[in-house]
Amino acid sequence: MIIGLLNQKGGVGKTTLATHIAGELAANGARVAVVDADPQGSALDWAQTRSQTGLERLFGVVGLAREVLHQEVPDIARANDHVIIDGPPRVTALARSTILASDLVLIPVQPSSYDLWASMEIVQLINEARLFKPALKAAFVVNRCITGTVIGRDVRNAFDDGIPALESVIGQRIAFVESVATGRLVRELDKRGAAAKEIAALTAEIMEQGT
Ligand code: ADP
Ligand code: MG
Repeated sequence: MIIGLLNQKGGVGKTTLATHIAGELAANGARVAVVDADPQGSALDWAQTRSQTGLERLFGVVGLAREVLHQEVPDIARANDHVIIDGPPRVTALARSTILASDLVLIPVQPSSYDLWASMEIVQLINEARLFKPALKAAFVVNRCITGTVIGRDVRNAFDDGIPALESVIGQRIAFVESVATGRLVRELDKRGAAAKEIAALTAEIMEQGT
């Protein structure tokens, strides 16, 4: 499956979720590639931190922040079981190209209506793309949810509007911050920790979308 993570807002968890979904799939034995479509190259930085630490290489990261990435991704997909695209932080041709390349677009959002409004431009792009790519799947992923937060009715209503939210929710957890600093996945920091369990559940739910 080719999965694109998109949201023009920075800091919502595109890179965090891209690397962790890729890591989970790879740890389960799949051949996975991450395409870094963000000119800032955060996924590439993470992979570099990881290799400098001498950690096992679970998946390759290719820098491809170019508007023709949808022409390049099929070749990468042929050599892998899954491709995860860490999308750009703006609504540009690069974002359109990411949508064109993807079977499933995931939109990480924080659980507030403010953050949902901020992602409406991406929703619009997805709806445009669906005119000529009707099989395109899309879903919100609630990230950085603080324990005990009740997701408000306004937020849930927004999810009912064409693009659903996945049931799996990722909490606001220190392990994800530590992951950036160390090049490790949360499952490598604490295999039985809450963050690792959430990533495993999210990845399983994503794989169900593809079937
Ligand atoms: P984006 O790629 O959308 O800009 P990142 O994945 O880089 O967002 O996340 C931005 C920052 O927020 C990073 O420092 C990351 O560690 C942190 N972060 C992301 N998701 C979580 C989470 N669930 N819990 C705690 N920190 C998080
Ligand atoms: Mg990023």
